[in-house]
Amino acid sequence: MKNTLPIVERFHSLQGEGAHVGKSAFFIRLASCKVRCPWCDTKQSWSENAYPKIDIFDLSQSVVEARTNGANFVVLTGGEPLHHNLGPLCEAIRQETKTERTSSSISIHLETSGVDPLSGKPDWVTLSPKPHAPPKIDVLSACDELKIIINDQTDLIFAEEMASQIKEHSDHKTLFFLQAVWNNKQAQNLTYEYVKNNSEWRLSIQTHKWLGIQ
Ligand code: SF4
Repeated sequence: MKNTLPIVERFHSLQGEGAHVGKSAFFIRLASCKVRCPWCDTKQSWSENAYPKIDIFDLSQSVVEARTNGANFVVLTGGEPLHHNLGPLCEAIRQETKTERTSSSISIHLETSGVDPLSGKPDWVTLSPKPHAPPKIDVLSACDELKIIINDQTDLIFAEEMASQIKEHSDHKTLFFLQAVWNNKQAQNLTYEYVKNNSEWRLSIQTHKWLGIQ
């Protein structure tokens, strides 16, 4: 079993986006992303070799501490977390956070573009697929919230395609979010108008960036 993972950073903050916005959460940012979106705001996470490989037990202990300090859930993000097998890490987190006092393990959230098969059985899946790298069907069908990043009009067409595919493959209710590329006024207006005129969609705002927090 692989017991280490390359980690860019881990920190306790608030979830800034999507359905769980504003909740206390612990983030583990895994290194490596081969999807290479031109507007990516975490390009520093693309290289796997630039970061130390950290033992999954060590990571799980950070989650235990964060839970004690108020975190509602842990978010596995990146980079692209599914480039790695998340099974051992999720198992360690579940095992270490389940105590007599808490009686249940902490909820594990995953933020992914969906290019690799799902692993780790996350409790909440945020899928943010990219037009140049379509998601795997198993991730589509497990998706709890779909978050499409809007840069221009073509992304709205892609958003509707993804929503249709999710409705076809998923047996549970999925929330649909549109999020404009940060600092792009045209994209913000486009997204605002689309959500205003299409009731199925909700606006996701990167509140952590507005607040200037991590
Ligand atoms: Fe960046 Fe995410 Fe695209 Fe990877 S999938 S390049 S981390 S935005």
